[in-house]
Amino acid sequence: MISQIIFFILLFSAVFLFSKNARKIYRNIKLGQPLNRSDRPGERLKLMLLVAFGQKKMFKKPLPAILHLFVYVGFCIINIEMLEIVIDGLFGTHRILSALGSFYNFLIFAFEWLALGVLVSCVIFFIRRNLLNIYRFKGIELKDWPKTDANLILITEILLMAAFLFMNAADYSLQQQGAAGYHEAGAFPVSQYLSAMLPESANTLVFIERFCWWFHIIGVFAFLNYLPISKHLHIILAFPNTYFSKLEPKGQFTNIESVTAEVKSMLDPSIPPPSGEVARFGAKDVHDLTWKNLLDAYTCTECGRCTAACPANITGKLLSPRKIMMDTRDRLEEVGRNISKNGTFKEDEKSLIDSYITREELWACTTCNACVEQCPVNINPLEIIVGLRQYAVMEESQAPSSINAMFSNLENNGAPWKYSQADRANWANK
Ligand code: SF4
Ligand code: SF4
Repeated sequence: MISQIIFFILLFSAVFLFSKNARKIYRNIKLGQPLNRSDRPGERLKLMLLVAFGQKKMFKKPLPAILHLFVYVGFCIINIEMLEIVIDGLFGTHRILSALGSFYNFLIFAFEWLALGVLVSCVIFFIRRNLLNIYRFKGIELKDWPKTDANLILITEILLMAAFLFMNAADYSLQQQGAAGYHEAGAFPVSQYLSAMLPESANTLVFIERFCWWFHIIGVFAFLNYLPISKHLHIILAFPNTYFSKLEPKGQFTNIESVTAEVKSMLDPSIPPPSGEVARFGAKDVHDLTWKNLLDAYTCTECGRCTAACPANITGKLLSPRKIMMDTRDRLEEVGRNISKNGTFKEDEKSLIDSYITREELWACTTCNACVEQCPVNINPLEIIVGLRQYAVMEESQAPSSINAMFSNLENNGAPWKYSQADRANWANK
């Protein structure tokens, strides 16, 4: 009975803490500017099923994609086992779902192979990330906490899978011995071999089985509450993030409505100029980005596929689209903590531009969209870059001198080049 009470307290605390942190993330995302992404639901659902559920974009690199698929499918399916653990934990039963008979045996059989697949994949990922010289696992933004975070996730998954397999191994041995409370249930294609490594004493086996059971469930509860502070949050947010993807062609930029209206009115005096003040042109801080940009920031897996494809980064510029997303998330978290502390946002003399993302990074971008194309969860770092640039140009009149020269040419000559308007068509005479 005591163990059931302890289990209930742990379960309740884990769910309570997770929902509290999830609400904070939701509040932070809602700080963004409105954006309508509720159109074409069928197309969106298809995209989500292909990209998030089907991992379509991951398969541009088959080896990591297959390993990731093992981890993803394995981790999701093995968590069906959690259902049994929760029922057993609450009611003090043991392998309650074994009443399903041969179907239960099939489930445990499949779980064991998947657990082994997850474990082996995580070991390979750990070696790739830490020992092999892979470009996208390097970069100034992947030092300190992000590196620790990635390794912690892999180590936790390895430990959870090992606990699952050793729990089954001890259970299998106890079943073979006919120990009280351990009736024959399940098929153990992997753990039956591990059981040879365990002692024969029934008491020790019960201790190992119970230890692994508690370790596994406490580990899962802890992991659930680790998600909100980790890049691993993508296992949940990848689904809404792909559903709310931009459906228009990548090269189609979003114009600032008030500017478009102003220009139209200048070109055609019959169109009245827009009324009302515009709060801000472009984005200075996270509040000025759209909620989708903020959801993107929380969804980023820090995989670095965007940075590895970025021509600016490859040619040694300071820009890394992965860092743009990580900086946006860090700033958003900072703003969120500020709101939690003060009830409303209290000015802190910081902003996303300058305090987190430098002008040098912003102006290194070629707007090529390679990062957007590569991202396996349809994140768009370019929208954030363009928003920050719009702020620099339109609110501060600050742009690199080469761009200012182009602006002057556009204003004076109607073209980006330094020719008079009368010479604009000369190229056609050649
Ligand atoms: S759009 Fe900018 S950030 Fe993205 S890959 Fe191209 S140059 Fe890099
Ligand atoms: S933006 Fe996308 S591609 Fe880039 S690191 Fe994040 S998840 Fe990976």
